[in-house]
Amino acid sequence: MSNLPVQYVKGVGPKLARIFARVGVNTVLDLLYFIPRGYDDRRAIKPISQLHPADNEVIRGELLKIDSQVTRNRFTIIKGLIGDETGRVQAVWFNQPFLLRSLRLGMKLVISGKLEYSDYDGRLQILPRDFEIDDGGEGGKIVPVYSLTEGLYPKKIRAVIKTVLEKYLPLIEDEKERRSLLVIHAPEELMEVEKARNYLAYKELFNFQLGLLLNRKRYKEELDGTILSVDDRLKDDFLGALPFTLTDAQTAAMADIFQDFQTGRPMNRLLQGDVGSGKTIIAAFAAYAAIKNGYQAAILAPTEILAKQHFTKLKQLFEPFKISLDLVTGGTAGRRKKEAKLTADLLIGTHALLEGKVTFKKLGLAVIDEQHRFGVHQRANLINKGTAPHVLVMTATPIPRSLALTLYGDLDRTIIDSLPPGRVPIKTFFITEARRKDCYGFIRSKILDGRQIFFVCPLVEESEALDLKAATLEAEYLQKEVFPELRIGLLHGKMKSAEKDRIMESFKNKELDILVSTTVIEVGIDIPNATVMVIEHAQRFGLSQLHQLRGRIGRGSDQSFCFLVGDPKTPEAKARIKAMVETSDGFKIAEADLRLRGPGDFFGVRQSGLPTFRVADIIRDEKIIQQARASAQALIEKDIESARNRWAGQGASAENPQGIEHSAFN
Ligand code: ADP
Ligand code: MG
Repeated sequence: MSNLPVQYVKGVGPKLARIFARVGVNTVLDLLYFIPRGYDDRRAIKPISQLHPADNEVIRGELLKIDSQVTRNRFTIIKGLIGDETGRVQAVWFNQPFLLRSLRLGMKLVISGKLEYSDYDGRLQILPRDFEIDDGGEGGKIVPVYSLTEGLYPKKIRAVIKTVLEKYLPLIEDEKERRSLLVIHAPEELMEVEKARNYLAYKELFNFQLGLLLNRKRYKEELDGTILSVDDRLKDDFLGALPFTLTDAQTAAMADIFQDFQTGRPMNRLLQGDVGSGKTIIAAFAAYAAIKNGYQAAILAPTEILAKQHFTKLKQLFEPFKISLDLVTGGTAGRRKKEAKLTADLLIGTHALLEGKVTFKKLGLAVIDEQHRFGVHQRANLINKGTAPHVLVMTATPIPRSLALTLYGDLDRTIIDSLPPGRVPIKTFFITEARRKDCYGFIRSKILDGRQIFFVCPLVEESEALDLKAATLEAEYLQKEVFPELRIGLLHGKMKSAEKDRIMESFKNKELDILVSTTVIEVGIDIPNATVMVIEHAQRFGLSQLHQLRGRIGRGSDQSFCFLVGDPKTPEAKARIKAMVETSDGFKIAEADLRLRGPGDFFGVRQSGLPTFRVADIIRDEKIIQQARASAQALIEKDIESARNRWAGQGASAENPQGIEHSAFN
C-alpha cells in the first residue's frame, strides 16, 4: 500500500497529485510522512488586545471591513479588518485575488499567521497563512500546519491527510510507528508531538544506519580485496617526481591508504580535507601504487571541467612513468559505449565512468573526488563493475563527526588537517552593493601586478530573478563600463563543454585577466595565479558554498583577497557573511553552516547533496543518530539474519543492494 500513488486517494485527482509532487509527496506513505511544520493551538485563542508579534499566532474575530488594491505590477493586496470586543487587527493577504469572492463583511473568522507591526502605520497586523470561517469546527482543536505550495490549501491537505489516516494508517505494521504518526497529524496535546517525532526520526535513522553498517560489514568481512604491495622503491620513485614534499598530514593519509591495500579486503575510506589541502596528489599516489601492481585506477570528478583539470595535471605528473591515461566524460562516453571496455592504466572522468556498458579491464582502485555529489548508490555501482575495487572517497566538506556518521557511516575516515606550507590566509571583505565600485581600483592594481581575478555570480539568466545580475550581463558591464582595457572571459553552466574548456584553458594560460563565472567553478579548480575573487550577491549563496568558492583562491604563496558583494537582509544571510569574513577554517564554517541552516531548510540541504530524511534532521538529531547507530550495530552483532531481513524489508533489492536510495536519497 505504501507505494500507492497519492492520485488514488479519495479526494485527490491527477491535478492535485501533480501539486503534491511539487512538495515531494508522491505516494500514500509520503502523505503519512508529510510532517506538519507546526501546529495552531485553537483551543484557547487570546483576545485581540492581548496579542503580541509572533511568527505563528491565531486570532478570532469578525470581518469588519475589506479593502483591495492592485499595485502597478498587478499584485493584489487585500486588507481585512478583524475585530473582537477588545480590539482590532488588520489582516493582509498578498496576491490572492480569488479570496475576494469568499470574504464577506460580518463573517466570523479564525485566522492563523505571522503577527507583526506594520512598516506602514506601526499597527499590529496579521499575514494569514490559513484562515477559516469560525463555525466552531476546528476551532476547539490543535490543528496541524503543513508546508504549502501554490494550489495546495490547508483545508484540502488536512482533509486528504484525514482520509489517509483512516484508510491507510492501520496498514502500517509497527504499532509504535502507527501511534506516532497519528499523534503527529492529530495531537491531543502538543507535548506528545516531540516524542512521537523522535520515534519516527529514530526509526528512519536506524534503518539508514543499518544499511550503512551492513555495507561496512560487507567491506570488512565479506568482499575480497586485491592486495597491493607498496615498497620503498615505489614510494621513492613517485615522491621523487613531485615538485614538493608531502606534508605530514598527507604522509599520514598515504599510510592509512597503503595499510588498507594490505588487508585483503577492499578499502572503503573517506578522505576529508579542506579546499586546497592537497588531496589530488593523494589520489595520484594511490593510483600510482595500484597501477604499478598491474591494476587500473579510476578517478571520478563531479564535473567535466574538473575531470579535464585532473587529466591535464596527472598526465604531466605521470609523463616520466609511462602510464597511459584516458579521459571519459559525458561527451566521449556516448561514442565509447560500443567499445565499452576501458584499457588505459588511469581513467579519469565524470560519472559517465560508472554508466551503463562501460567496463574495465582490471580495476583496482576508484577514487571519487568531491564526494558529496555522488550518492551511496553510485558507490555501490562501482562494486558491481566486477570485483570490488579499493574505494577512496575524497571530500572538501569538513563535515562534523555526527554528520559524518550519518553520511559516510560505512566508511573509514582519514582527515587532512593542515594545508601545504607557505599558504597565506585569504583576506575577506564585505562590501555593499552601493559601494561595489570600491574594489575596482584594487582589482586593476592587482591585474597590473600580473594577477588574475574571478567574479562569481549566482545565476545564468536575468529571467530567473529580476534583481540578479547574471554572469552574462556582469561580464558585459565590466568590459564596457569598468575595465575596457582588460581581457574578460565568461564561463557558465549552459555553455557547451568544449567552449567551457576553451575559456578555462585561456584563463589558465593568462590570456584572460578576469573570469566572470557562475558556480561552475565551484569545486576543485586550481589556478594559483588567481588571487582575487569577487562574489556577487553573496547573500544568495549558502555558507559552505561560499567557502568552497573562496577556496579557488589562496592556492599559491601570495596574499589572496575575497570580496563579498551584496545586501544581506535576513539575519541568517548576515551571519553567513560575518562567518566568512571572520574565519577561513573549514570546520568552523561547516558547523556555522549547519547551525544557520537549521532544521527545515529542506531545499538547502537537498541542494547540498546531503541526504534528506522525511523526519530526521541530521543537525538537530545528533543524539538520536548515535543511538540509532548503536542499536543497528547491536542488532547486526546479535542477529545478522534479522538485520538483513529488516534491511531488505526497507526496499533493498537486486538493483539496489544498499536500499539506501529508497530510504534517504530519493
Ligand atoms: P584540494 O585538496 O582542494 O583538492 P589540491 O589537490 O588541488 O587541493 O591542491 C592544492 C594545491 O596545493 C595544488 O596546486 C597542489 O599542487 C598544491 N600542493 C599539494 N600538496 C602540496 C605540498 N605538500 N606542498 C606544496 N604544495 C602542495
Ligand atoms: Mg580537489
